[in-house]
Amino acid sequence: MKNLNQMIADKIFPNVHLTLEDLDNKYPPRSLKEGAMVTRFAPSPTGFLHTGSLFTSLVSYRFAKQTDGVFFLRLEDTDQKREIRGSGDKVVEQLETFGVVPDESFLDEETPYGPLVQSERKDIYHAVIKSMIQSGDAYPCFCTHEELADIRSHQEKNKLLPGYYGEFATCRHLNQDDVLKRIERGDEFVIRFKSDGQVDQRVSFDDAIRGRIEFPANILDIVIMKTDGLPTYHFAHVVDDHFMRITHVTRGEEWMSSAPIHLEIFDRLAWPQPIYAHFPVIMKLDEGKRRKLSKRKDQEASVDYFLEKGYPIEGFLEYLMTLANSNFEEWRIKHPQADIFDFELSFNKMSLDGALFDIEKIKSISKDRLALMNAKTFTSNALEYAEKYEPRLEEIISLNRDYFEAIINIGRDQKKPRKDYEKYSDIFDVVSFMYDKYFYEMIQELPFDDRFSHDMIEDILNEYVNDTGLDLDQNEWFNKMKEKAVSRNFAARPKDYKKQPDAFVGHVGDYAEIIRVASCGKANTPNFYDILQILGKERVVERIKYTIGLL
Ligand code: GLU
Repeated sequence: MKNLNQMIADKIFPNVHLTLEDLDNKYPPRSLKEGAMVTRFAPSPTGFLHTGSLFTSLVSYRFAKQTDGVFFLRLEDTDQKREIRGSGDKVVEQLETFGVVPDESFLDEETPYGPLVQSERKDIYHAVIKSMIQSGDAYPCFCTHEELADIRSHQEKNKLLPGYYGEFATCRHLNQDDVLKRIERGDEFVIRFKSDGQVDQRVSFDDAIRGRIEFPANILDIVIMKTDGLPTYHFAHVVDDHFMRITHVTRGEEWMSSAPIHLEIFDRLAWPQPIYAHFPVIMKLDEGKRRKLSKRKDQEASVDYFLEKGYPIEGFLEYLMTLANSNFEEWRIKHPQADIFDFELSFNKMSLDGALFDIEKIKSISKDRLALMNAKTFTSNALEYAEKYEPRLEEIISLNRDYFEAIINIGRDQKKPRKDYEKYSDIFDVVSFMYDKYFYEMIQELPFDDRFSHDMIEDILNEYVNDTGLDLDQNEWFNKMKEKAVSRNFAARPKDYKKQPDAFVGHVGDYAEIIRVASCGKANTPNFYDILQILGKERVVERIKYTIGLL
């Protein structure tokens, strides 16, 4: 004979015939080598990859990869109000940009432990819930918003613990015949978990990062299925991570205090508990106070921001690794050119309290990474960036790749490479003068130092075009320029001029600047000799003559 719980379960889920056993057979433990970790990243479809989420997913991914395990992506779309169509695709694309490539993803047609989209897993959740109702571990609750509000205000007034538990869990105590009638009548309900937790009881678990942690036990009869038939996070997490055979739940610290709820559900279902690793939340210093990096207030909370600005992927990843493990930087110093993913992450080197986000550090790491990159890779990365975000940069690179590469190569192949760029969006302003279209625009302003008269500038330029010295090597070229400068009473050394500014017109640097402005349209450029060589004598002369014409 069916007991009342079974009758209620059948009434709610007449068409659910899957059992827990069926599910366990369908999703058996994964056959992986000893110690292999199965991790996941489980974004909600918000259309936005948070910098903190990239951090979490990167680290989860690396743990799986370095142990020959599995990393997968699950879409947590049970909050249907918030869903943004297609936003899951964008997150996957962005993760892949950072090298976080899942073994199984919610975009795949078929996966062995899928579907990996929660809204497509209703039959699985319903099977588990049906079995929990049958065993008396879950029950329908018909409380309206008003009734719940009344319970809350009663608790507040009497200074009692808030929530739906014990004597306040009114639907726990309903007569089951009434329950059946109300379901038949079509009353709206949610399903709640029946907690065994007692006030003042404590539970503990071992967090892979933080060690043993103790919390008050859960006492709440939390909602596990909403009126729309979809599960809540707490329940879906347990069911999914069980049937997807996760070994390590790597998630943000903000979930740590709800772990007792999750552990209680795992226990009740007699499922093995996964290992939890609660990652530090990324914080920001705001007027001296630490706070969470916020999607609303901080541009840098969005990974898009860094991609649009053109920070090199390598630099950003590098930075996230420094946040992940305190020994990463030491490793990097020893292995400056090594692949970042050769670094072995460990849980015990993760910081315990929020990691502080430091944009200045990202900038400096990015500069280093860009300086260490060879010119070919730099050029193809820059082109990839430009195709997406900066048409004028794309145009100049595509015009002649070798020419662009030669410019980028200035000061690169040497022991201490020049750090001219922090991000790809810096390139255009640095190099555009090398392209005639932009040079002839820039020179219209005649951006010469106004200490020098146009007559004198014209004289100097006329002399220079007649004998550029560009067939000489850098030293000879420079000495020749110095001689000419000295013959016009420019000091041979800047410090001589500094000491006696009235005795000279300027110093040799000022003299060179005049030629630099006339041929480049600006005073700041990478190594001038290299620039002139790349432009070639003919174009240099042409540019200077044009400038003379403008004076
Ligand atoms: N969807 C949850 C979130 O975005 C996932 C938390 C977890 O990894 O378990 O925060």
